[in-house]
Amino acid sequence: MRRLARLLAVALPLVAAMPALANRDGPPRMRPIDAIIIHSLGGPDCRDGVVFHKQIDGTAREWADFFARLPGVSIHYVVDRAGAVAAGLPESKVASHAIGWNRRSIGIELVNNGDGRDPFTAPQLAALLRLVHDIRARHPAVRPETIRRHSDVDVSTFPVAKHGPGCDRHRRKLDPGDAFPWAAFIEAVRERRAELPAPPR
Ligand SMILES: [Zn+2]
Repeated sequence: MRRLARLLAVALPLVAAMPALANRDGPPRMRPIDAIIIHSLGGPDCRDGVVFHKQIDGTAREWADFFARLPGVSIHYVVDRAGAVAAGLPESKVASHAIGWNRRSIGIELVNNGDGRDPFTAPQLAALLRLVHDIRARHPAVRPETIRRHSDVDVSTFPVAKHGPGCDRHRRKLDPGDAFPWAAFIEAVRERRAELPAPPR
């Protein structure tokens, strides 16, 4: 929550100075939705060659409201650790969350540190699975093969000009990260299961 409060403290004055909340009203869809991009809110950051992660807390609603005020980035859904789902931008609008994939996709953010260690909770994974089933029912062109991780579609590295020397050796987008049970999740999507199989012991 402290992290969210800090973000809000930085972002809100910026937004207040803007003439309109542009992200509430992204561009309309010009092509059918056939993909979903899965994100986590946390992910690597880099300063002078050193990669680090931040603790990510907060509820789905708080984060969806945060994105609605954030210039330049938008999202359709946020799923938090308790399994609550909050809608952000309507599906009928193009959100800005994954370069090259925005026009065809729905973006989903998961509240997680994205560091490959922070576990995704069972309620969160079950809620995500339900949400993906719902989206596929509305948009049949979305197939298990077109549900992608952000890390699958963005292999860019940190720009030195902004992050410092050495950071260009490190990828910017690794979310949702290795702690996300990707194979089990896609299998559960493909088989239209209500929940993920229990992890192997
Ligand atoms: Zn992402």
